Amino acid sequence: MAKLNDILSPFTAWKHVVREPVTIKDPLNREAADRYRGFHKNDISECIGCGTCESICQNAAIDLVPVEGVDTKDGDSGLRPRVDYGRCCWCGLCVDVCTTNSLSLSNEYTWVDEDPDSFRFVPGAENKSWDNREKGYKKPGNGYELYNPKREAMEELEPEKRDQSFIEIVQGYSKEQAEQEADRCVECGICVATCPAHMGIPEYIKAIRNDDLNEGLRVLYDTNPLPEICGRICTHKCETVCSVGHHGDPLSIRWLKRYIADQNPAEEYKKILNTENLQPTGKKVAIIGSGPSGLSAAHYLALMGYQCTIYEKLPAAGGMMRFGIPEYRLPYEQLDKDINYILSLGVEIKYNVTIGKDITLEELHNQYDAVFSGTGLHMGRSTRVPGTDHPKVYQAVDLLRDIVLGKEVPVEENIVVIGGGNVAMDITRSLARLQKQKYGKVGVLATSLESEDIMPADREEVIEAREENAVIDPGWGPVEIETEGDKLKGLHVVKCVSVFDENRRFAPKFDEEQKKFFPADMVVESIGQGMDLSYLPEAFKEQLDMDQRGRILVNDDFQTSAGWLFAGGDIIQGPDVIHGIANGHKAAMGIDKYLSEK
Ligand SMILES: Cc1cc2nc3c(=O)[nH]c(=O)nc-3n(C[C@H](O)[C@H](O)[C@H](O)COP(=O)(O)OP(=O)(O)OC[C@H]3O[C@@H](n4cnc5c(N)ncnc54)[C@H](O)[C@@H]3O)c2cc1C
Ligand code: SF4
Ligand code: SF4
Repeated sequence: MAKLNDILSPFTAWKHVVREPVTIKDPLNREAADRYRGFHKNDISECIGCGTCESICQNAAIDLVPVEGVDTKDGDSGLRPRVDYGRCCWCGLCVDVCTTNSLSLSNEYTWVDEDPDSFRFVPGAENKSWDNREKGYKKPGNGYELYNPKREAMEELEPEKRDQSFIEIVQGYSKEQAEQEADRCVECGICVATCPAHMGIPEYIKAIRNDDLNEGLRVLYDTNPLPEICGRICTHKCETVCSVGHHGDPLSIRWLKRYIADQNPAEEYKKILNTENLQPTGKKVAIIGSGPSGLSAAHYLALMGYQCTIYEKLPAAGGMMRFGIPEYRLPYEQLDKDINYILSLGVEIKYNVTIGKDITLEELHNQYDAVFSGTGLHMGRSTRVPGTDHPKVYQAVDLLRDIVLGKEVPVEENIVVIGGGNVAMDITRSLARLQKQKYGKVGVLATSLESEDIMPADREEVIEAREENAVIDPGWGPVEIETEGDKLKGLHVVKCVSVFDENRRFAPKFDEEQKKFFPADMVVESIGQGMDLSYLPEAFKEQLDMDQRGRILVNDDFQTSAGWLFAGGDIIQGPDVIHGIANGHKAAMGIDKYLSEK
């Protein structure tokens, strides 16, 4: 039976009609607290579209979307975060993790709109009334970061322990150091696009965190069959865009790669990489040159079952990685670890065979189903100032090669090196070591057109060269090498006031009034290298598509207009090992496509 209360209760609500309200009439007019977490703001010119905000959001309230007027470039995905306020819980984690500090929350919380879609927008790209508000929530200052902004330091051999020998300078990370460094990665992947080989960087860094170094090796070999080498001497463009580097030190990507390669024993590679039973296709590919592009092409072709033979004019493999880069940066043992693994896949190398001399290109074409050429840049360039034809004037690449070949290398007491790039630093530092061994002291000076701030050599190379007592005196243009009979007296230089014109073209300008003389018994030129394509017969060259500068033209598969000839590395793109590796990989896939369609 119904009670009286049940009958009356619907009417109890009416008693509130006459009561005073306990809240204010219109809460929307109230100013929020200074650090209230309202709607997002984003400085889209600072934002790099790394997507770390998207990854951290526990409510999937952030999507990275393309934005008109924002382009993809190195270090910027071209995307920007779009926030969905149907999902956002205003926790502010996205602001805390933002690698560029571009994202913040204004203290605006009132917003009335009839269109539900408008509550999903791209802050910074779509104008909002709160865009210029100062108040709101920002990442706390004083170095507060969700990740450690400081790079794990790398141990290096002290100058006095290294200046007489070619033993390796960089010591490598311990397990603890590697894991701490790997822990700093926010896994944004912005580095992947900038790496010429598009290595799976966040994945191999994650493998270090998970202490699964076999998996790390598998990720490395997906795109790079020379990880010991690249883990030491890669030009590491990826690090220049690492999003953590915007407010801290970029990840030490190169040393982390080295750590994975160093920790995996060579004898287990085939098992880890599952390459014990490769299925032969019965087709053969010839490769000219055993530099990184040739080795990379051979590696990926071998995995696809092609029988590869590399023809190499020198008595050992590696190209400039062995005959250019000095041992103190890249020990032969590590170089050989990478190369021997490639050979273990059935790749053959015929040493001391020069194509164009011992065997013609035509013969290769007749004997193989396809040919890849990666012959590199091995001819030194001269400044051609008066005196360069003197016998005591040498080319850096010739001397570096002769050091490796164990030939007698001229080492005078006073040497001047002309050049400001990494090759110049390599020869300067190599000669400094040989001088220390021979004379007990260093007497080498390197000079370049470029002033110190625009010298092309890596900063660390210049610093280490000075630590080893070499003199670096940049900003001078060579005028003449003074000689007297078979003696060389030194180099006359004038001040170089600018190297490039307003269109960034090479057009050095000098102040002839400011002169210097560098006394020397020997001069080494290191101003770049040229290519030797004399193995291409003239009649063939005339048919081949080449540009005005005499470079072979290739398509996206690194295939020349001849069809059966592919080319990569320094003769096509350069200027470093990782480009050679990437070219070789793409060419291998191009050759496979070409031979599959044939
Ligand atoms: C001193 C020096 C230091 C460098 N330091 C770095 C560095 O730290 N990091 C980096 O990434 N890059 C560095 N580079 C650049 C890097 O070494 C090159 O970009 C890379 O090796 C080019 O690879 P490649 O495959 O094109 O040819 P290369 O490495 O030049 O190899 C070409 C091979 O082809 C062979 N060959 C040529 N012609 C013939 C022929 N007709 N018949 C048979 N064989 C032939 C050559 O003997 C050689 O072995 C350096 C270069 C030099 C010179
Ligand atoms: S974390 Fe920062 S820099 Fe990265 S996409 Fe988000 S807002 Fe942009
Ligand atoms: S290494 Fe740097 S750029 Fe690459 S994924 Fe990690 S944090 Fe991002």
